Amino acid sequence: MYDLLVIGGGPAGLSAAVNGRRRNKQVLLVGKEMLSNKLRQAHRVDNYLGLPGITGADLARKYKEHAIKEGVEIIDDEILNLWLEEGLFQGMGRNELFQAKAVIIATGTPQKPSISGEEELVGKGVSYCATCDGMFFRDKKVFFLSELVEGEKEANFLADLCEKVYYLPRYKGKYTDLDPRIELISGRPLRFHGKQKLTGVTTSEGEYEVEGAFIERASLPLERLLPGLQMENEAIKVNRQMMTNIPGVFAAGDCTGKPWQIAKAVGEGLIAALAAVGYLSALK
Ligand SMILES: Cc1cc2nc3c(=O)[nH]c(=O)nc-3n(C[C@H](O)[C@H](O)[C@H](O)COP(=O)(O)OP(=O)(O)OC[C@H]3O[C@@H](n4cnc5c(N)ncnc54)[C@H](O)[C@@H]3O)c2cc1C
Repeated sequence: MYDLLVIGGGPAGLSAAVNGRRRNKQVLLVGKEMLSNKLRQAHRVDNYLGLPGITGADLARKYKEHAIKEGVEIIDDEILNLWLEEGLFQGMGRNELFQAKAVIIATGTPQKPSISGEEELVGKGVSYCATCDGMFFRDKKVFFLSELVEGEKEANFLADLCEKVYYLPRYKGKYTDLDPRIELISGRPLRFHGKQKLTGVTTSEGEYEVEGAFIERASLPLERLLPGLQMENEAIKVNRQMMTNIPGVFAAGDCTGKPWQIAKAVGEGLIAALAAVGYLSALK
């Protein structure tokens, strides 16, 4: 059990984790696509004070080294659900349950279900987690839409289980790590079909009759991560202490709204950590 669970390994999450450790708290950071695809894509960062011209990849490396040096525990996973039980937050990862007294959400730009039929069919054939739901589609045909290279690993897992896997990447890559049994397809996803359950997927290039569809994105819709979390203008609503409407839950970085910038993310991570430390002290 930890004092603080930080969700997301970008600038906001790492800043929160480092500052939590500086206050001698036990901090676990759980992050997927280590450490922030977005930061690594920044070819050249010229507006971050003191480090003009640094690449996003170099900054990510420095952040990670700093966090490890401070004693932050980092786990490569995705928190799929978060809830409070007997005074402790329970964060369900893909394979493990994590417990903490307080939580900082630093999951990057909020994502919304964006494909026609997606929202209606979640839990009825559409899933955000192959590891969790793959077994439901044993010996069936499935569709896998991925915005991240990490999707390839998940799709390979499905190739062992399912009759057929169609893989639609929405990122540039070589796709050489894909299991040869997987059919690589192209196009834009347009619609998930079905009423009580998924029956197929339409893309700009064709129709796929499938019973399951998996979606891999940088983050889950926040309403699914933590039901009851208050949003405003498509961002998590926070006050100046980065507190959300749920006591013990703080948020920082792009997930709290614009400007989507590194300096803001780092600053908010610090504020969220200090506010969380104050919250933890008041619990005693
Ligand atoms: C091409 C490009 C260039 C940019 N250039 C600049 C620049 O020059 N200057 C500047 O200031 N900013 C720049 N930015 C913006 C900057 O990268 C972002 O503002 C910054 O990365 C936001 O940090 P964050 O920690 O809030 O979110 P992110 O960096 O997006 O990190 C969030 C992380 O949390 C992970 N995550 C999400 N959900 C979960 C979950 N449920 N469980 C575990 N992990 C989860 C995500 O996968 C992601 O890795 C640029 C962005 C891009 C894309």
